[in-house]
Amino acid sequence: MPELVLVIEDEKEIRDLVKYNLERAGFRVATAADGEQGLEAAYSSRPDALVLDLMLPGRNGLEVLRELRSEPATHDLPVVVLTARGAEMDKLLGFEQGADDYLTKPFSPRELVARIKALLRRARPDRAEAVIEVGPLRIDTLARAASFGGEALKLTLREFDLLAFLAHQPGRVFSREELLRKVWGYDYLGETRTVDVHVRRLRVKLGETHRVIETVTGAGYKLASQPASSGG
Ligand code: CA
Repeated sequence: MPELVLVIEDEKEIRDLVKYNLERAGFRVATAADGEQGLEAAYSSRPDALVLDLMLPGRNGLEVLRELRSEPATHDLPVVVLTARGAEMDKLLGFEQGADDYLTKPFSPRELVARIKALLRRARPDRAEAVIEVGPLRIDTLARAASFGGEALKLTLREFDLLAFLAHQPGRVFSREELLRKVWGYDYLGETRTVDVHVRRLRVKLGETHRVIETVTGAGYKLASQPASSGG
């Protein structure tokens, strides 16, 4: 499948221009018009690269970048930032926050496509984290397949996403709200029981005695850093 590029840009003309050129170059393209939407899209659609305008309404590009870099799932996402002409400070701050490349407006769409291709070439060999192993738990994020103790798990899309998200940082506790936001997206805020339901189903599929997903009272859930391989 062609690689997916997410474009977060509030100016419609630029968004459309970038989308048009990336699609012509053979990429799939997702777009968002502000920072919140952009974060949601980054978590839900798992893009291969991101084009990020820094001047955005609401949460600006630097804030978006900072959050993406703090999350294991998007920590290594190749990012090209778009800065306004003469905004040298933005460029510096962008790099400080983890931008991989930048273009100053107005830019040539062809140049942008070239930069994206270069970043993806560089990023690919590092994508070894496609397989996550925690004790007997094995998750292949590219094949979207999970197994426990060598036995394949039959998971729904969302169960898989939740398990993979937790497995990126075993031992770290995530609140239900955070899980909703990162795994389901912003729209689901407030329905934290959704998380409980999915955790319950995951536990059944994993074998409840294995204690792979632990409840941390008053805080949320975490993946056990050393899940038991057999619980009898
Ligand atoms: Ca803008």
